[in-house]
Amino acid sequence: MSPNSMPVLFVGHGSPMNAIEDNEYSRGWRTVAAQLPPPAAIVCISAHWETSGTHVTAMERPRTIHDFFGFPQALYAIEYPAPGQPFLAKEIQALVEQTRVGQDLRWGLDHGTWSVLRHMFPDAQVPTVQVSLDRARSPQEHYDLACELSALRRRGVLVIGSGNMVHNLRLLNWEDIETPYEWAQEADAELKRRILTHDHQALIDHRRLGTWAALAVPTLEHYLPMLYVLALQEEGDEPRFFNESVLSSLSMTGFVLAGAR
Ligand code: ZN
Repeated sequence: MSPNSMPVLFVGHGSPMNAIEDNEYSRGWRTVAAQLPPPAAIVCISAHWETSGTHVTAMERPRTIHDFFGFPQALYAIEYPAPGQPFLAKEIQALVEQTRVGQDLRWGLDHGTWSVLRHMFPDAQVPTVQVSLDRARSPQEHYDLACELSALRRRGVLVIGSGNMVHNLRLLNWEDIETPYEWAQEADAELKRRILTHDHQALIDHRRLGTWAALAVPTLEHYLPMLYVLALQEEGDEPRFFNESVLSSLSMTGFVLAGAR
Protein backbone atom coordinates (compact mmCIF):
# COMPACT_ATOMS: atom_id res chain seq x y z
CA MET A 1 0.00 0.00 0.00
CA SER A 2 1.26 3.45 -0.92
CA PRO A 3 -0.46 6.05 1.22
CA ASN A 4 1.36 8.81 -0.60
CA SER A 5 0.12 7.93 -4.06
CA MET A 6 -2.13 10.40 -5.82
CA PRO A 7 -5.64 8.99 -6.32
CA VAL A 8 -6.70 8.05 -9.86
CA LEU A 9 -9.99 9.09 -11.34
CA PHE A 10 -12.45 7.85 -13.93
CA VAL A 11 -15.01 10.40 -15.06
CA GLY A 12 -18.14 9.85 -17.15
CA HIS A 13 -18.19 13.11 -19.10
CA GLY A 14 -21.49 12.75 -21.01
CA SER A 15 -22.75 15.70 -23.04
CA PRO A 16 -20.38 18.61 -23.80
CA MET A 17 -23.10 20.83 -22.25
CA ASN A 18 -21.96 19.62 -18.84
CA ALA A 19 -19.01 21.98 -19.37
CA ILE A 20 -21.24 25.02 -18.92
CA GLU A 21 -24.11 23.65 -16.89
CA ASP A 22 -24.40 23.65 -13.14
CA ASN A 23 -26.04 20.24 -12.71
CA GLU A 24 -25.67 17.15 -10.53
CA TYR A 25 -22.77 15.88 -12.64
CA SER A 26 -20.72 19.05 -12.74
CA ARG A 27 -21.34 19.46 -9.00
CA GLY A 28 -20.23 15.86 -8.47
CA TRP A 29 -16.94 16.62 -10.27
CA ARG A 30 -16.37 19.70 -8.11
CA THR A 31 -16.97 17.71 -4.94
CA VAL A 32 -14.54 14.98 -5.97
CA ALA A 33 -11.84 17.50 -6.91
CA ALA A 34 -12.20 19.27 -3.57
CA GLN A 35 -11.26 16.02 -1.80
CA LEU A 36 -8.06 15.42 -3.79
CA PRO A 37 -4.60 16.49 -2.73
CA PRO A 38 -3.45 19.32 -5.03
CA PRO A 39 -1.98 17.59 -8.11
CA ALA A 40 1.46 18.47 -9.47
CA ALA A 41 0.10 17.90 -12.98
CA ILE A 42 -2.73 16.09 -14.77
CA VAL A 43 -2.54 13.35 -17.39
CA CYS A 44 -5.87 12.81 -19.11
CA ILE A 45 -6.82 9.89 -21.33
CA SER A 46 -9.85 11.15 -23.23
CA ALA A 47 -12.27 9.11 -25.36
CA HIS A 48 -12.03 11.90 -27.91
CA TRP A 49 -8.41 11.49 -28.94
CA GLU A 50 -7.93 8.34 -31.00
CA THR A 51 -4.83 8.03 -33.14
CA SER A 52 -2.64 5.67 -35.04
CA GLY A 53 0.08 4.85 -32.51
CA THR A 54 0.24 6.32 -28.99
CA HIS A 55 0.94 10.04 -28.60
CA VAL A 56 1.37 12.52 -25.77
CA THR A 57 0.73 16.25 -26.01
CA ALA A 58 4.03 18.05 -25.54
CA MET A 59 3.31 21.70 -26.25
CA GLU A 60 3.79 24.51 -23.71
CA ARG A 61 0.32 25.92 -24.35
CA PRO A 62 -2.28 23.39 -25.47
CA ARG A 63 -5.22 24.91 -27.34
CA THR A 64 -8.83 24.33 -26.30
CA ILE A 65 -10.40 22.08 -28.95
CA HIS A 66 -14.13 22.46 -29.56
CA ASP A 67 -14.61 18.99 -31.00
CA PHE A 68 -18.41 18.86 -31.31
CA PHE A 69 -21.08 20.17 -33.65
CA GLY A 70 -24.46 21.84 -33.28
CA PHE A 71 -24.08 23.14 -29.73
CA PRO A 72 -24.82 26.67 -28.46
CA GLN A 73 -22.29 29.40 -29.22
CA ALA A 74 -21.54 29.77 -25.49
CA LEU A 75 -19.85 26.38 -25.55
CA TYR A 76 -17.57 27.33 -28.46
CA ALA A 77 -16.53 30.45 -26.57
CA ILE A 78 -15.06 28.47 -23.67
CA GLU A 79 -11.30 28.46 -23.33
CA TYR A 80 -9.44 26.32 -20.82
CA PRO A 81 -5.95 27.78 -20.76
CA ALA A 82 -4.15 25.21 -18.58
CA PRO A 83 -0.45 25.06 -19.45
CA GLY A 84 1.15 21.96 -20.91
CA GLN A 85 4.25 20.35 -19.44
CA PRO A 86 6.77 19.20 -22.04
CA PHE A 87 8.97 17.48 -19.44
CA LEU A 88 6.04 15.37 -18.25
CA ALA A 89 5.43 14.35 -21.86
CA LYS A 90 9.09 13.26 -22.03
CA GLU A 91 8.74 11.36 -18.77
CA ILE A 92 5.74 9.47 -20.17
CA GLN A 93 7.72 8.65 -23.31
CA ALA A 94 10.48 7.24 -21.10
CA LEU A 95 8.12 5.26 -18.84
CA VAL A 96 6.38 3.40 -21.65
CA GLU A 97 8.57 0.61 -22.94
CA GLN A 98 6.20 -1.55 -24.92
CA THR A 99 5.65 0.99 -27.68
CA ARG A 100 7.15 4.22 -28.92
CA VAL A 101 5.11 7.15 -27.61
CA GLY A 102 5.10 9.98 -30.12
CA GLN A 103 5.39 13.62 -29.12
CA ASP A 104 2.37 15.60 -30.32
CA LEU A 105 2.49 19.34 -30.94
CA ARG A 106 -0.86 19.76 -32.71
CA TRP A 107 -3.69 18.38 -30.57
CA GLY A 108 -4.32 20.22 -27.29
CA LEU A 109 -7.17 19.66 -24.83
CA ASP A 110 -10.38 18.18 -26.26
CA HIS A 111 -13.78 18.40 -24.57
CA GLY A 112 -13.32 15.02 -22.88
CA THR A 113 -10.67 16.80 -20.83
CA TRP A 114 -11.69 20.44 -20.49
CA SER A 115 -15.46 19.96 -20.01
CA VAL A 116 -14.58 18.17 -16.78
CA LEU A 117 -11.44 20.03 -15.66
CA ARG A 118 -13.20 23.36 -16.00
CA HIS A 119 -15.34 22.31 -13.01
CA MET A 120 -12.67 20.41 -11.12
CA PHE A 121 -9.89 22.97 -11.49
CA PRO A 122 -11.57 26.21 -12.60
CA ASP A 123 -8.35 28.23 -12.29
CA ALA A 124 -6.74 26.19 -15.11
CA GLN A 125 -3.39 26.43 -13.30
CA VAL A 126 -2.49 22.73 -13.16
CA PRO A 127 -0.27 21.68 -16.10
CA THR A 128 -2.21 19.17 -18.22
CA VAL A 129 -1.18 16.69 -20.90
CA GLN A 130 -3.24 14.17 -22.84
CA VAL A 131 -2.27 10.66 -23.88
CA SER A 132 -4.04 9.35 -27.00
CA LEU A 133 -5.80 6.05 -27.56
CA ASP A 134 -4.12 3.95 -30.25
CA ARG A 135 -6.96 2.55 -32.38
CA ALA A 136 -4.95 -0.56 -33.20
CA ARG A 137 -4.50 -1.75 -29.61
CA SER A 138 -6.75 -4.31 -27.95
CA PRO A 139 -8.26 -3.63 -24.50
CA GLN A 140 -5.58 -5.89 -22.98
CA GLU A 141 -2.85 -3.93 -24.74
CA HIS A 142 -4.27 -0.62 -23.52
CA TYR A 143 -4.38 -1.98 -19.98
CA ASP A 144 -0.78 -3.19 -20.21
CA LEU A 145 0.40 0.17 -21.52
CA ALA A 146 -1.39 1.97 -18.70
CA CYS A 147 0.39 -0.22 -16.12
CA GLU A 148 3.64 1.38 -17.22
CA LEU A 149 2.41 4.79 -16.05
CA SER A 150 2.19 3.78 -12.39
CA ALA A 151 5.20 5.87 -11.32
CA LEU A 152 3.21 9.03 -12.08
CA ARG A 153 0.98 8.54 -9.07
CA ARG A 154 3.91 8.54 -6.71
CA ARG A 155 5.06 11.91 -7.84
CA GLY A 156 1.73 13.62 -7.38
CA VAL A 157 0.41 13.43 -10.94
CA LEU A 158 -3.35 13.00 -11.21
CA VAL A 159 -4.28 10.51 -13.94
CA ILE A 160 -7.84 10.92 -15.23
CA GLY A 161 -9.65 8.63 -17.64
CA SER A 162 -12.52 10.50 -19.28
CA GLY A 163 -15.18 8.51 -21.15
CA ASN A 164 -18.44 6.77 -20.25
CA MET A 165 -18.48 3.14 -19.16
CA VAL A 166 -21.83 2.63 -20.92
CA HIS A 167 -22.11 4.72 -24.08
CA ASN A 168 -24.44 4.13 -27.01
CA LEU A 169 -25.27 7.45 -28.67
CA ARG A 170 -27.16 5.80 -31.52
CA LEU A 171 -29.78 4.48 -29.10
CA LEU A 172 -29.88 7.56 -26.85
CA ASN A 173 -33.50 8.61 -26.43
CA TRP A 174 -33.43 12.40 -26.11
CA GLU A 175 -37.22 12.50 -25.64
CA ASP A 176 -36.95 10.53 -22.42
CA ILE A 177 -33.35 10.70 -21.31
CA GLU A 178 -34.15 10.11 -17.63
CA THR A 179 -35.44 6.58 -18.27
CA PRO A 180 -32.56 4.12 -18.59
CA TYR A 181 -32.71 1.09 -20.85
CA GLU A 182 -32.79 -2.09 -18.84
CA TRP A 183 -29.62 -3.37 -20.51
CA ALA A 184 -27.82 -0.09 -19.73
CA GLN A 185 -28.70 -0.40 -16.05
CA GLU A 186 -27.62 -4.01 -16.04
CA ALA A 187 -24.32 -3.07 -17.68
CA ASP A 188 -23.66 -0.24 -15.25
CA ALA A 189 -24.41 -2.49 -12.26
CA GLU A 190 -22.30 -5.37 -13.52
CA LEU A 191 -19.33 -3.14 -14.37
CA LYS A 192 -19.49 -1.55 -10.93
CA ARG A 193 -19.63 -4.96 -9.31
CA ARG A 194 -16.47 -6.03 -11.18
CA ILE A 195 -14.72 -2.79 -10.25
CA LEU A 196 -15.55 -3.35 -6.58
CA THR A 197 -14.21 -6.91 -6.67
CA HIS A 198 -11.06 -5.76 -8.54
CA ASP A 199 -11.86 -8.20 -11.34
CA HIS A 200 -9.85 -6.39 -13.97
CA GLN A 201 -9.55 -9.34 -16.32
CA ALA A 202 -13.33 -9.57 -16.63
CA LEU A 203 -13.43 -5.85 -17.40
CA ILE A 204 -10.72 -6.18 -20.03
CA ASP A 205 -12.68 -9.07 -21.60
CA HIS A 206 -15.98 -7.21 -21.16
CA ARG A 207 -17.54 -8.80 -24.27
CA ARG A 208 -17.92 -12.01 -22.32
CA LEU A 209 -19.70 -10.37 -19.38
CA GLY A 210 -23.20 -10.46 -20.81
CA THR A 211 -25.49 -10.01 -23.76
CA TRP A 212 -25.63 -6.30 -22.89
CA ALA A 213 -21.96 -5.79 -23.76
CA ALA A 214 -22.47 -5.17 -27.47
CA LEU A 215 -25.14 -2.56 -26.71
CA ALA A 216 -23.34 -0.90 -23.80
CA VAL A 217 -19.92 -0.76 -25.46
CA PRO A 218 -20.61 -0.65 -29.22
CA THR A 219 -17.23 1.04 -29.76
CA LEU A 220 -14.28 1.02 -27.40
CA GLU A 221 -13.20 4.66 -27.17
CA HIS A 222 -15.45 5.69 -24.24
CA TYR A 223 -14.74 2.44 -22.37
CA LEU A 224 -10.96 2.28 -22.66
CA PRO A 225 -10.18 5.32 -20.45
CA MET A 226 -11.65 3.30 -17.58
CA LEU A 227 -9.13 0.51 -18.19
CA TYR A 228 -6.29 3.06 -17.94
CA VAL A 229 -7.54 4.04 -14.49
CA LEU A 230 -7.99 0.45 -13.29
CA ALA A 231 -4.49 -0.47 -14.47
CA LEU A 232 -3.12 2.04 -11.97
CA GLN A 233 -4.90 0.51 -8.99
CA GLU A 234 -2.50 -0.24 -6.14
CA GLU A 235 -2.90 -2.55 -3.19
CA GLY A 236 -5.04 -0.83 -0.59
CA ASP A 237 -6.88 1.35 -3.10
CA GLU A 238 -10.62 1.14 -2.77
CA PRO A 239 -12.99 2.32 -5.51
CA ARG A 240 -15.43 5.05 -4.50
CA PHE A 241 -18.21 5.81 -6.97
CA PHE A 242 -19.74 9.19 -7.71
CA ASN A 243 -22.34 10.52 -10.19
CA GLU A 244 -23.93 7.07 -10.21
CA SER A 245 -26.60 7.51 -12.81
CA VAL A 246 -27.75 5.98 -16.09
CA LEU A 247 -29.35 8.29 -18.63
CA SER A 248 -31.11 6.37 -21.39
CA SER A 249 -28.16 4.52 -22.99
CA LEU A 250 -25.37 6.43 -21.18
CA SER A 251 -23.81 5.83 -17.78
CA MET A 252 -22.47 8.91 -16.00
CA THR A 253 -20.87 6.79 -13.27
CA GLY A 254 -17.37 7.75 -12.23
CA PHE A 255 -15.02 6.49 -9.53
CA VAL A 256 -11.93 7.41 -7.56
CA LEU A 257 -9.28 4.89 -6.62
CA ALA A 258 -7.53 5.95 -3.45
CA GLY A 259 -5.90 4.31 -0.47
CA ALA A 260 -7.24 4.81 3.04
CA ARG A 261 -6.08 8.19 4.31
ZN1 ZN B 1 -17.58 11.69 -25.15
